[in-house]
Amino acid sequence: MTLHSGHLPVLELNAEDYEYEMSDYEGARARWCPGCGDHSILTAVQRLLAAEQLAPENTVFVSGIGCSSRLPHYLKTYGFHGIHGRALPIATGIRLHRPDLTVFVVMGDGDCTSIGAGHWVHAMRYNLDLVVMLLDNGIYGLTKQQTSPTTPQGFRSNTQPRGSWLPPLNPLQIALGVTNASFVAQTAEWVPAHLYATLRAARQHRGLSFVRILQRCPIYSSAVYLEAVQHPANIRMLVHDDGVVVHELDKIYTNQVAHDPHDLDAARRIAGATDRVNLGVLFRDGSKPRYEETRRVPPRTQAERVALIDAELDRYAI
Ligand code: SF4
Repeated sequence: MTLHSGHLPVLELNAEDYEYEMSDYEGARARWCPGCGDHSILTAVQRLLAAEQLAPENTVFVSGIGCSSRLPHYLKTYGFHGIHGRALPIATGIRLHRPDLTVFVVMGDGDCTSIGAGHWVHAMRYNLDLVVMLLDNGIYGLTKQQTSPTTPQGFRSNTQPRGSWLPPLNPLQIALGVTNASFVAQTAEWVPAHLYATLRAARQHRGLSFVRILQRCPIYSSAVYLEAVQHPANIRMLVHDDGVVVHELDKIYTNQVAHDPHDLDAARRIAGATDRVNLGVLFRDGSKPRYEETRRVPPRTQAERVALIDAELDRYAI
């Protein structure tokens, strides 16, 4: 673009020269409760977008329903606040029809692991190029404290006032059990440096990156992660050059274990461990087939398409 202004020199502005800052991604003012972990996640996402210099007009956030699913409203990118449990089918459609866009998915635990569980499993198997964030606070927050699949056993809620009957569903074990899963990680919103580094690793992975983000809801499930928040010794950092290494956290989180994210068996053992909260990349394999490639439809002319439809209709001719 060239601007002419009287006797002033001609000013050349090129879109390529523009450097996006975090403020370029700020949308509406966030309306989550004070202290909600979603605020931290929003900041990490804005930081990621700026670091990756993702053009807002080429970036889409798709969500389902729940407190966390309000996130697209608070970003100045494209957004689709979808329907409960259906964020992944919507994101799949966007990804297939607009492969030039970068697509993120935001879901809560009730959204992803309950009504959306079927979509979640098959999206992981399809392995489209998506960054999928599960914001897991262990409760239905928007509907005011109903037991979700990840609610800890014995936790009292409005739907199970005597305590949740069943042991919680483990999203990491499920994700790691899906054929063709290619990236599974866990992080926590109260460790922002790790959260950001994990999201960056997820964004740079080719294929579906599933990131479970442990998220505090101070209104309805404040006790769920309290031990891990207050006592860093309860957290085990999984470190590896192909995973996430955040040296600035070394003095706080001294419990560090080398874990090669290419070792699926080790990842599954870690996912099932209950002695500590594990943060890091559990598994990654960038060689897994992606649906964008395996479903590729060869380009055809209009005449060829009509001929194919005619042939298909002829199959039903009597
Ligand atoms: Fe966040 Fe909980 Fe408030 Fe929802 S109810 S906005 S999850 S603190």
